[in-house]
Amino acid sequence: MRHAGTVVRGIDAAGYARGAHQVASPNCDARPRGVDVCLAVIHNISLPPGRFGGDDVRRLFTNTLDTAAHPFFVSLAGVRVSAHFFVRRDGSLVQFVSCNARAWHAGVSAWHGRARCNDYSIGIEVEGTDTEAYEAAQYRTLADLLRALHRRYPLAAAVGHSDVAPGRKTDPGAAFDWGRLARLLGTRLLPRDGEGRLAGSPSSVL
Ligand SMILES: [Zn+2]
Repeated sequence: MRHAGTVVRGIDAAGYARGAHQVASPNCDARPRGVDVCLAVIHNISLPPGRFGGDDVRRLFTNTLDTAAHPFFVSLAGVRVSAHFFVRRDGSLVQFVSCNARAWHAGVSAWHGRARCNDYSIGIEVEGTDTEAYEAAQYRTLADLLRALHRRYPLAAAVGHSDVAPGRKTDPGAAFDWGRLARLLGTRLLPRDGEGRLAGSPSSVL
């Protein structure tokens, strides 16, 4: 029996995941020419923070958030962000930006000394917080999605936002179980880098 939520049946040539619910975000642009998509960056988000199941993430990524609806939203006025994907608590998958385009999710960031992760990464937002356990269905959809991405793009690793923007970002947080994701992927863990900063950490898979 397959899981509830979204079964990802591959990424098409235009960069869209078959099976995902498509919602177009205007917050994207072209990747630099000749750049390989080699990294997946995993984030968390919930709006308002800690509240799940609403429509405000979609609104944020489509620039239609009512910033008067909640005190926290005032800080998001005029913010133009997106991610390629959003994995809801029930494991359902929403896609906002073609994987062939550049979504605006990582901000100031670097991976293995290479700056501007948005240029060469796929951004995946998982509905949640740093401290609350993620749902089984979310891990299953994530594993499905990463496998599909790996078939289409030369993905070398999946890392957390906190790995590419240390000191600035904490997501997906201590609640995110990298080992569980790795087991679902059925692939071995890769060491993070040669500097030992995250040596032994499972926060890089594929
Ligand atoms: Zn993030």
